[in-house]
Amino acid sequence: MPEPVVLHTADRMRECVREWRASGQSVALVPTMGNLHAGHLSLAGLARSEADRVVATIFVNPTQFGAGEDFEAYPRTLDEDLAMLSAAGTVDAVFVPEMSEIYPFGAGEAVRVSMPALSRELCGASRPGHFDGVASVVCRLLNVATPDVLVLGLKDYQQLILVERMVADLGIGVRVVSGPTMREPDGLAISSRNRYLTDDERSRAPALYAALNKVVVALRDGAGDYRALQQAAEDELRGAGFEPDYVEVRCAADLARPNGRQPPDELVVLAAVLLGKARLIDNLHVRGAEPARIQLRRSENS
Ligand code: AMP
Repeated sequence: MPEPVVLHTADRMRECVREWRASGQSVALVPTMGNLHAGHLSLAGLARSEADRVVATIFVNPTQFGAGEDFEAYPRTLDEDLAMLSAAGTVDAVFVPEMSEIYPFGAGEAVRVSMPALSRELCGASRPGHFDGVASVVCRLLNVATPDVLVLGLKDYQQLILVERMVADLGIGVRVVSGPTMREPDGLAISSRNRYLTDDERSRAPALYAALNKVVVALRDGAGDYRALQQAAEDELRGAGFEPDYVEVRCAADLARPNGRQPPDELVVLAAVLLGKARLIDNLHVRGAEPARIQLRRSENS
């Protein structure tokens, strides 16, 4: 496959998609904030199987960062990102817009998407406005690239559910497809923010995945006292040097609080923690968690 074309303006992006459409080709969009890793590449690979053309976007979106968060420090590694995408050979175009292409009136004056109550729970409780910022940028990227398919990671599960909600509620004509979380061999979910971890923190970080697994196993075994499970997981994480933000059992379909009558297969366990400078998030569905457990055991034994 030829090198992906790198586009910096919304007009060029639109023109490119128009040409593809004129020859009857479908388009998939993979939004990212760059500092690409195996998780992003797996989504690009998934996109390839869902549409004729794949666009990856690289844009560190200021409106989803709160005051005091890591917007300035967020790793920007465009040359390496482009090299990775070229080597992977799965994308046709990379959209790398300047700020003014996404926020022509400035990020502070931007029209914003206001998301429903779920956006203020879980991660939204400690990151006010975060999901409004995510929705706002995804909406803008969809308006520019007008893809048939939007590819998102299960890693950011609350983001996925909320973007699906936005697409349905605003009547945006795009199909949302999600890809599994790519993990390090020791179970840690791959994330651009893992680079904030010191060596010592990195060696402790897989305890987050282990704690989620423990809750999943308990739910499968019939445990029904979610509060006790959550508390035990938070205590365990605290003991391992994490500062837990939350561990919660929710309904996988819509992230509603379970009423105790759902079968375990319909549940998801989500967590956010601080470990040193890094805010780590992860989640595990009760259904389908088995391969992950096997992977963890293997790495424990190796
Ligand atoms: P980000 O660049 O962190 O905003 O992420 C861009 C997309 O990649 C989002 O849809 C994320 O859910 C997804 N993503 C991030 N980390 C992973 C991972 N470890 N495995 C799979 N997808 C991921």
